[in-house]
Amino acid sequence: MQRKILLNPGPATTSDSVKYAQVVPDICPREEDFGRVMREVKSGLLRIAGAGSDYSCVLFGGSGTAVMDSVLSSAVHGKLLVINNGNYGERFAQIARAYNLDFEELKFDISGEIDLARVEERLKKRDIGYVASVHHETTSGILNPVKEIGNLCQKHGCVNIVDTISSFAGVPFSVQDCNMDFMMSTSNKCIQALPGVAFVIARIAELNKLKDKPKRNYYLDLYAQHEFAERKETGQSLGTGQTRFTPPVQTIYALRQAILDLEQEGGVEARHERYTDNYYLLTAGLKRLGFKPTHPERMHSKISTTFFEPDNMKLDFQQLHDALYKKGFTIYPNRLGDKKVIRFANMGDLHPNDIRLFLANLEEVLQ
Ligand SMILES: *Cc1c(COP(=O)(O)O)cnc(C)c1O
Repeated sequence: MQRKILLNPGPATTSDSVKYAQVVPDICPREEDFGRVMREVKSGLLRIAGAGSDYSCVLFGGSGTAVMDSVLSSAVHGKLLVINNGNYGERFAQIARAYNLDFEELKFDISGEIDLARVEERLKKRDIGYVASVHHETTSGILNPVKEIGNLCQKHGCVNIVDTISSFAGVPFSVQDCNMDFMMSTSNKCIQALPGVAFVIARIAELNKLKDKPKRNYYLDLYAQHEFAERKETGQSLGTGQTRFTPPVQTIYALRQAILDLEQEGGVEARHERYTDNYYLLTAGLKRLGFKPTHPERMHSKISTTFFEPDNMKLDFQQLHDALYKKGFTIYPNRLGDKKVIRFANMGDLHPNDIRLFLANLEEVLQ
């Protein structure tokens, strides 16, 4: 298989061990053997999130947006504040609008920093019960202050909902320390598995509060999915682990392998170090070729960085993309307000030599 290097912000480049982990004997997901795989995956994800026994992991077949949808439609039963400084904050608002939730948006400049004083000022009015924010705003590559937002939620008694879709397993944090009640992520970003599995890590006490709440969605019902997986059949102490409906069976085997790979790499801290090294290599090379970062370095996530195109670039984005794609590299267009920019993501199973190879090919194409 030809190795492709993906610099788009997910799905990320995967290892061969993850790809081949999908090749397993056919199995019915109602078998106890598969339930065991599910339980292994869930406990691995909980470990990565730094979650104690008061948290549970709920899995769905779907992309990341499925679990954003699941949490907002299942868990919000009061006024919601959406903190929005980019496209994914905007997505929370769109989902809230689709379900006709009682919500308010606290908007910050597209890809600007979140002003915590304004967040606190809003929470002081005491009518907000739920706060939704995005950890890594992948659009701009800005890391938002989730720990501080978590503290504010605790102080003002709000349920804290966080999209950690593109930071989970790439940026060290713990759900406990950040006071997260509902956290969501997906299989195809920094965990470096294949697309198709989305998951929520939630405080069990908060999940249990949803038991008798009105349902707004059938398939993505968070409580029902949790309750189904945790129900016990004879001889099992841990619950069946199963999903209500057919899960992406083979993708879950690949996710299990990706969790093993992460542990072998040395955990999230070690992965973050590799990503950071790749980020410095990549951004230094891009700057040398005339690309200018749209934000100051202190705001960068070190996972995805947005650049203005060089002034003297003779190709348009599509031509640049096509030339690089032919050589095995995928880049991704973006817009920041009315400015054309390029996002370069260094998440995934990428190593310094991949970055050097990309930069050499980019230079050749530009010339
Ligand atoms: C990728 C991503 C999502 C989910 O996108 P899908 O296309 O549904 O997988 C949500 N939030 C953030 C911050 C993301 O980076």
